[in-house]
Amino acid sequence: MQNFRFWLYFHKSFFIGFFLFSLTCMAAPDPNLDLSLTPIQTKEDILTKLEKIDLGIKKTDSLKDIFSKLESYVASYIPDPKYPDDKFALATLNECIKATKENDFCIGAAIVDENGNVLLSAHNTQRSQNRSDYHGEMTLLNKFETDPSFLKYRHGLTYSKKLTVYSSAEPCPMCTIRLAIVGVKSKYVASSSDDGMTSRIHQLPDFWRKMCEKAPCEKAKCSPILSSIAHLYFYTAFLNNHSN
Ligand SMILES: [Zn+2]
Repeated sequence: MQNFRFWLYFHKSFFIGFFLFSLTCMAAPDPNLDLSLTPIQTKEDILTKLEKIDLGIKKTDSLKDIFSKLESYVASYIPDPKYPDDKFALATLNECIKATKENDFCIGAAIVDENGNVLLSAHNTQRSQNRSDYHGEMTLLNKFETDPSFLKYRHGLTYSKKLTVYSSAEPCPMCTIRLAIVGVKSKYVASSSDDGMTSRIHQLPDFWRKMCEKAPCEKAKCSPILSSIAHLYFYTAFLNNHSN
């Protein structure tokens, strides 16, 4: 009888402990989760990664539900002091969220001053504006250059060296050159290994390579989970058939 009570107690404690442990694991994705940021080729690839990131997304979810779950996570994320660029990565992801509501490609960008103030943010508006050149960074720089309140940060065509442009994705060749022309340093949240230009600067003609080297672009120091989310937003075009 004594043994029976012991095993009953042991089993109860074990199951309660296991239940509490499971709840802890389900509460939030591991902040150090580093999903492979390799290029995504198909709709099935992006759905598999979305399910793997552990935000409660299922492959059978509607696009609206997928965007809603991504948005909820971004809205609840508290910047981690370990990652000084988390705040700015979030500014770009909030622009990705706006892009989802405007049926645009999910790439966001923000421009930040030397005190860490986000001066302006914007997102890709190619589809909503029917403009082939309106990438996230291009839309941001266009707005920045046409707003008189930002004239104090400009010296002719170039920008103050104290500014930094953040992008949710590694800048493409077109945006890399624009950022070099205005002479502003930049950081990206997720690398775009299939079309990002940062790792290919050495392939440019000398004139452009030297210009790019004066306006360096590097990976933002942000949490791996934010990088993964930026990566997934980039490829959501596969989900709404915008990739072709
Ligand atoms: Zn671009």
